[in-house]
Amino acid sequence: MQANRANEKELGLRTEKELEELKAQYRKELLYSPKNVSETEEGFFEKAKEFCEGYKAFIDSAKTEREAASFAAARAEEKGFKPYDRNRKLSAGEGVYLLNRGKAIVVIKKGTLPISEGANLVIAHTDSPRLDLKQRPLYEEGGMAYFKTHYYGGIKKYHWTALPLALHGVLFKKNGEKVEISVGEKEGEPVFCISDLMPHIAKDQVEKPLASAITGEGLNIIVGSVPLEDGTEVKLALLKLLNEKYGITEEDFLRAELSAVPAGKSKDVGFDGGMIGAYGHDDRVCAYPSMEALFDSETPERTAICIFADKEEIGSEGVTGLLSAAYTNLFKELCEAEGAAYGEFCENSCCLSADVGGAFDPCYGEAYDGKNSAYVNKGVVVTKYTGARGKSGSSDASAELVAKITSVLDSRNVAWQTGEYGKVDQGGAGTVAKVVASWNVDVVDLGVPILSMHAPFELASKGDIYMMYKAAKAFFELR
Ligand SMILES: [Zn+2]
Repeated sequence: MQANRANEKELGLRTEKELEELKAQYRKELLYSPKNVSETEEGFFEKAKEFCEGYKAFIDSAKTEREAASFAAARAEEKGFKPYDRNRKLSAGEGVYLLNRGKAIVVIKKGTLPISEGANLVIAHTDSPRLDLKQRPLYEEGGMAYFKTHYYGGIKKYHWTALPLALHGVLFKKNGEKVEISVGEKEGEPVFCISDLMPHIAKDQVEKPLASAITGEGLNIIVGSVPLEDGTEVKLALLKLLNEKYGITEEDFLRAELSAVPAGKSKDVGFDGGMIGAYGHDDRVCAYPSMEALFDSETPERTAICIFADKEEIGSEGVTGLLSAAYTNLFKELCEAEGAAYGEFCENSCCLSADVGGAFDPCYGEAYDGKNSAYVNKGVVVTKYTGARGKSGSSDASAELVAKITSVLDSRNVAWQTGEYGKVDQGGAGTVAKVVASWNVDVVDLGVPILSMHAPFELASKGDIYMMYKAAKAFFELR
């Protein structure tokens, strides 16, 4: 439709009713606004709620990257996927998975096309901000035993006081025996807690800026209070108890990876139960729908690959982070098995960096550009660029790629929207996209918009979570 001069001339001659109709037509044909998820199909929210029951079971039982990787491996086995064998060429439709040191997982469904045609990759991460225990965590003060912590990822420290915490992780005894620890999740189990200062005497504390009112060294977790029989040495009494329960000594903490995370299960939020409140939606809220989409997709033409990566929250470093050659080496092996060139595979591959976006929060509207924000229930956020200041640290997807991906979403009736994190120069964020781009694989960020990101209780809409599943499924089936 073209609004030409002849049209404009005519406008003055029309009746008011005709003019209104014409304006309505112009609005419909020329203006853009993202649709609500509920407009995409009949009974949408019922389907979304049903899908999210599976998601809640996942986040309630997988609070760390190790637990998420084990959960995904078990689910893959259930779906007939087998552990990856580097000595065997994959046949079309075959499903395999590879665990990277138990903390990350790659799930592959071989397509009908040769691997040289590339893969459709969806990469999410399953590590979330938390409090890791220091290597020598245990001490006693004021008649209580404490664990010292070192926070992992970007947290607001004041969130973590006066909050029930659970402990998850592993520890190795001197003889190499592995001890798995999970305390604080089951009914009747004790939890742990970092105390806060009572308001009555918090005059100095409350006058400090939020960033410094609670310090990193102040995040010490109460883990015991019962002394030995003579009323002394709580720390020693606690070690005696731990020794009886796990057969460990203080020295064994030197070989541990233990994390404190918010205790308890996810909850439906709102009278209508339209949202889920939980610890660590970021980024399990993209991981679970993506992997389920891979399981549910028909044998694809291009090989479908889903990764739950580790260490995204601290820059994708380490052998289990996406910067590790563990992933590119695997792709090279897939290519070698078919005599394909790795460079060609990368060039022909396409990736969704499936990570959460920040949803517009009207209670903190001043931090956002509302015209360029993502909104709850408007579907997945396609984020062309992330980064800070002048897009620093962003891979900035090409217009060509955005066009390609969004046309697939449109063709499958997936509700999507764009969204920047916040106002320009207000801060910023990064994702694994830049790592993927460095492989010469086209990549764009796409994920679920969430509220209270990185808080102990994050919020996501069930409609957007289900839309993530639909987006990943459409993408895996993309030619
Ligand atoms: Zn994050």
